[in-house]
Amino acid sequence: MSIRDKIPHLPEIYADSNINLLLRRAKENRTVDIEEYETTGGYSALRKALNKFTPEDIIVLVEESTLRGRGGAGFPTGRKWRFVIQNPKPRYLICNADESEPGTFKDRIIIERDPHLLIEGMIISAYAIGAEKGFIYIRGEYPAGYMILENAINEAYERGYLGKNILGTDFSFDLYVYRGAGAYICGEETALIESLEGRRGHPRLKPPYPPQVGLFGRPTVVNNVETLSNIPIIVTYEQYFMHIGPAGYYGPKLFPVSGKVKKPGVYESTMDITLNELIDIAGGPIGKPKAVFSGALGVYHPDEFDTPMDYSPKGFGGTGTTIVLNEEDCIIDSLIVIANFFHHESCGKCTPCRVGTYEQFNILKKFQEGTATEKDLDLLIHLGKNIPIGSICGLGYSAPNAIMDAIRKFRDEFEAHINGKCPGGVCF
Ligand code: SF4
Repeated sequence: MSIRDKIPHLPEIYADSNINLLLRRAKENRTVDIEEYETTGGYSALRKALNKFTPEDIIVLVEESTLRGRGGAGFPTGRKWRFVIQNPKPRYLICNADESEPGTFKDRIIIERDPHLLIEGMIISAYAIGAEKGFIYIRGEYPAGYMILENAINEAYERGYLGKNILGTDFSFDLYVYRGAGAYICGEETALIESLEGRRGHPRLKPPYPPQVGLFGRPTVVNNVETLSNIPIIVTYEQYFMHIGPAGYYGPKLFPVSGKVKKPGVYESTMDITLNELIDIAGGPIGKPKAVFSGALGVYHPDEFDTPMDYSPKGFGGTGTTIVLNEEDCIIDSLIVIANFFHHESCGKCTPCRVGTYEQFNILKKFQEGTATEKDLDLLIHLGKNIPIGSICGLGYSAPNAIMDAIRKFRDEFEAHINGKCPGGVCF
């Protein structure tokens, strides 16, 4: 029985691209069966990697590719791999498939429509870093993705792509999929490792970093779904990969675009595209755009829509999450969604994060209800400056980002609410 028969409904995600590498199969036809994957060239990068390259060759290729982690932090993948191989075996490879930031749904499309691309990427990555065991940590809210991955892993074992002596070589690799219980904080790599080890998913103090002391105390690489799915493309194209996109930010990138655009979905592009061009690819805005929220990272004013979608200091960066607001939306109302998310997802370990995120939410509610004063605006700024100082992980560092950005760029919206008016006509 095919996996298609076991899963009654796979949600549709509209996807269109201006290049066709990561979404090549996903966009045209789901490739959840291994036969479909193989007939479209699948696992040829793995054959090439094992037959043509040493692990060091692949690490050099990835370093030259300038591939940055697509999970948000943008850390150079090759550098992370170089770091881990300096530490003794056994080493582990973990795929972070715990995508759950507001507006972020790009990894899902690979998991549900092209799972073998991720698996092939993981096998090649494990070969490069000398790992014999790997884990995919998938968010609990992706049940279809979990089933699809389990099925694909079983298929890969049956075909000799996983297990002992892969494709007749000395390299062996076992892969497991683990389902999270629905906590955003488990996307933080050390919390993810704690959770995989069977404990509560609380972040660890760093250093040491996972490439030094990771899963079960061993050197571990944690890469996200999109990052690992780029590896077969890098191995296939070798030096040609360095012609895809702008210098220093080579390769394809997925952008989840939602909100007030005509064709919300996941879009693949090179990173020389600007925010304006991305909105155009997504069918253009509905109404007059007022702002773009980049997930929880920050807020963009229309004056900044020429921002390049790369990882440069002036680039969009992060996961590429793009939520478009128009003039009928309210900045405060949208910030409340994000503030509520952080307050709900704070693990509670650090007091400034636990209490501060709750207070951010409460103060924004006062703006929404029309009872806020200038003092509340000052308090929001005070919290925004101080929550990151007393926090030990990325959630606490980034929880005030969107609010602080909005105060800088849309202060008039806050003032209007203090004066009893909601410019979008949403509040009160
Ligand atoms: S910063 Fe927040 S989420 Fe991170 S460990 Fe501290 S309390 Fe938990």
